[in-house]
Amino acid sequence: MKNCFFCKIAKKEIATDLIYENKNIVAFRDINPQAPVHILLIPKLHFPTLNDFMSNDKYLAGNLIYNAAKLAKREGIAEQGYRTVFNCNEWAGQTVYHIHLHLLGGRKFRWPPG
Ligand code: AMP
Ligand code: ZN
Repeated sequence: MKNCFFCKIAKKEIATDLIYENKNIVAFRDINPQAPVHILLIPKLHFPTLNDFMSNDKYLAGNLIYNAAKLAKREGIAEQGYRTVFNCNEWAGQTVYHIHLHLLGGRKFRWPPG
């Protein structure tokens, strides 16, 4: 999508702290980290929210989740624990409308979230 910031990151038109890439997804560090480890995993294709994943996109959803777990191990947060979050739409606090999976770790989180 033309004016989408995360599409530009995925196409490397904007430089970012890219830490993982495969054919369909990229991962980079959040610019405003909410925990010692805060990584975003995004599909290279533009989907505004989780509501826009269709049946054909199930493998892509798994690609994001599986690689979040792999990155958690690589970042050394897997054993103590971490959180993965898709914020979907306004009430969940979504601010960037290109789907992204947050991977957060390195500190203890509360439940329920705020
Ligand atoms: P959400 O509130 O779930 O939509 O999350 C959007 C996230 O994107 C926030 O945690 C922002 O800090 C992060 N973010 C926004 N712009 C950038 C950027 N250029 N590079 C890295 N992270 C970003
Ligand atoms: Zn986009």
